[in-house]
Amino acid sequence: METEKLTFETWEERKKQQLDLQLKDFMDVIKWAYRTYEDRIAYACSFGAEGMVLIDLISKVKPEAKVIFLDTGLHFSETYSLIEKVKQKYPMLDLILAKPALTLEQQAAEHGENLWEKNPDLCCHIRKIEPLQQQLQDVDAWISGLRREQSPSRSMVDYVNKDEKFGKIKICPLIHWTWEDVWNYIKLNQLPYNELHDQHYPSIGCSKCTVQVLSDHDSRSGRWKNFSKKECGLHQA
Ligand code: SF4
Repeated sequence: METEKLTFETWEERKKQQLDLQLKDFMDVIKWAYRTYEDRIAYACSFGAEGMVLIDLISKVKPEAKVIFLDTGLHFSETYSLIEKVKQKYPMLDLILAKPALTLEQQAAEHGENLWEKNPDLCCHIRKIEPLQQQLQDVDAWISGLRREQSPSRSMVDYVNKDEKFGKIKICPLIHWTWEDVWNYIKLNQLPYNELHDQHYPSIGCSKCTVQVLSDHDSRSGRWKNFSKKECGLHQA
């Protein structure tokens, strides 16, 4: 399947709709993405359950794929342990731990202690959005593990999206996957995963802003528990 390279600048609904008709499933999407964008594409991975699936699928298509982890300096130790396991299992991956411009000490000096308690939007902006912006400078497209069933704000996501926030194409191969699909794949393929998932953490972000989910809330209800905030700002609602 040959299709014109769709970029933020050349985006046209008509071309996007043609593409939608051709992309059959998640693997088709991943293969198309790397064939089309070659080295000008990166996967922004949070190392959640979907992240493990995508790393495994992507590595089958492009073993040396660029994978970006937004290393806020505030992740759980279990997340950093998982990253070490991933490095061993997929040694060819170009894994980048993207750091914010400000250290935690500099952030506290400029904006006050524990910014995540007072202004989590600013904290996410400094520690996640700006580093991703910088990492995406040299690519045309990025991949994300968003799934439609994750939350109401993600229910309209397509395989291929015009990402106004970063001025890129955002590709989401797993939009139709359920939580059960994700775990079936992990177990079947004996993939490493974050141990916190076994302790009622369905969605895992920074340790300061993630709590256990002990009821039937949506999978992201353990994030920013005391705020209306449900997204770190990387994805538009
Ligand atoms: S998730 Fe919390 S600690 Fe992490 S960058 Fe956002 S506000 Fe800061």
